[in-house]
Amino acid sequence: RELPGDPESGPRLRQVHGAAWSRVSPTPVAQPRLLAHSREMAAALGFAESDVRSPEFARVFAGNALLAGMDPYAANYGGHQFGQWAGQLGDGRAISLGEAMGVDGSRWELQLKGAGPTPYSRRADGRAVLRSSIREFLCSEAMHHLGVPTTRALSLVGTGEAVERDMFYDGHPRDEPGAIVCRVAPSFIRFGSFELPASRGDAALLRQLVDFTIRRDFLHLRGSGESLYGEWFGEVCERTAVLVAHWMRVGFVHGVLNTDNMSILGLTIDYGPYGWIDDYDPDWTPNTTDAQGRRYRFGWQPRVAHWNLSRLAQAVASLFADAAPLQAGLDRFADAFVAADRDNLARKLGLAECRDDDPQLALRLYELMHAAEVDMTIFFRALSEFDADEPALGPLRDAFYDDAKLGAHEADFLAWLARYAARLHHDPLTAAQRRARMNAANPRYVPRNWLAQRAIDRAHEGDLAGVDELLEVMRHPYEDQPGKEEFASRRPDWARDRAGCSML
Ligand code: AMP
Ligand code: MG
Ligand code: MG
Repeated sequence: RELPGDPESGPRLRQVHGAAWSRVSPTPVAQPRLLAHSREMAAALGFAESDVRSPEFARVFAGNALLAGMDPYAANYGGHQFGQWAGQLGDGRAISLGEAMGVDGSRWELQLKGAGPTPYSRRADGRAVLRSSIREFLCSEAMHHLGVPTTRALSLVGTGEAVERDMFYDGHPRDEPGAIVCRVAPSFIRFGSFELPASRGDAALLRQLVDFTIRRDFLHLRGSGESLYGEWFGEVCERTAVLVAHWMRVGFVHGVLNTDNMSILGLTIDYGPYGWIDDYDPDWTPNTTDAQGRRYRFGWQPRVAHWNLSRLAQAVASLFADAAPLQAGLDRFADAFVAADRDNLARKLGLAECRDDDPQLALRLYELMHAAEVDMTIFFRALSEFDADEPALGPLRDAFYDDAKLGAHEADFLAWLARYAARLHHDPLTAAQRRARMNAANPRYVPRNWLAQRAIDRAHEGDLAGVDELLEVMRHPYEDQPGKEEFASRRPDWARDRAGCSML
């Protein structure tokens, strides 16, 4: 079904009470054009490559037409942003088209981001610019291939329309090309989806939403009533812990860890001002609007996730006679995070298991990497080539950004490597086993900010090949790809001032 080209009036902006969603149609765009797509996601949904190339595909995933059975809606939710309750937020620029059954019987929700205004758009236009859409498209697929739970991206469609944006640059509004990503996940329900009815005292809607969530996505849980709710909350805590441990493993900084950006399924969701760690720095945040410069730092992600879970616990407290099950869930977060983090540590260092002294060994390494400005991804990858019988810096030298700092810390690193070598001599893995274990946990490629920025700059010149190439490399992030060394190299000097990269 084609949507009318010139909607007489957009959706009415409003506070929506007593409902978790609002029916709304995407606003058609001038010139839908497929710019990129994920072959894995297309195949999972049963699209042939010829389907993807058809004009109808671009029309549907630009929001110009609906397939039979699609019944689009925008979700209502609230959230804590920067530590403060922000009230109703909702899908201001996301519109779900409906659910599709994958070829393996799995269920996927298809959602357009940037498809026009909804009742939740507040003062904004409901649109997305090409650069932020490329960032979301590339990073969500890269995260999937990195083995990190995430919402997925099916398609990136150009709208042929300009979007006015005035952030960054010089304070003057300017036109940018618009685009729409179709993102895909079993559910886009967020912590904030529960917080909003709770904040309004709507206990009935809250319970209905919890029951719906469990029935749709937590069917494996047993029990009923309060014990079922407790199981559910505990599992949300555990999934969130595992998620954050993955982020710490691969050097991902979400950048806006607000409760409206926390998936109830423990998926990475809402790729905005995210970033990747180049030189290891637990205090680094890609979010230039994080005034305190604290909340959205890399190293704070575990505690901010815990804080967000505490807000979810508060929101669902009315379902429980007392706080004990909720406290048990929050404790489960702490336990699950420590367990996942220790497991990741053992895998990153190539140890069969994490023994009690090993976190100290890792901590010292991270201290040194921070002090000496060492690239996290390059260092851990090169560490798999380390020979415990002949401790030397060797290929690890490539990970240093600054020769002077390398010189100043070389002795410290050699001392650490001697400690590491001694530890490896007490580990049962063979050198080959160790290398395989490390190379499955330490990616060779991550979609670094400067790589995404370079692809964006080319796309602005009309050349999408940079997006395709980066996606292609990120399809196999743990494999050495001959000829693609540049994608695994240190951040170049021009990208050093990372706040200068376009993000939102
Ligand atoms: P975020 O910081 O990306 O999580 O967004 C916070 C809120 O702002 C969400 O409710 C978004 O839907 C909304 N929002 C962000 N950008 C736009 C836009 N261009 N138009 C409408 N709503 C938006
Ligand atoms: Mg958001
Ligand atoms: Mg966003």
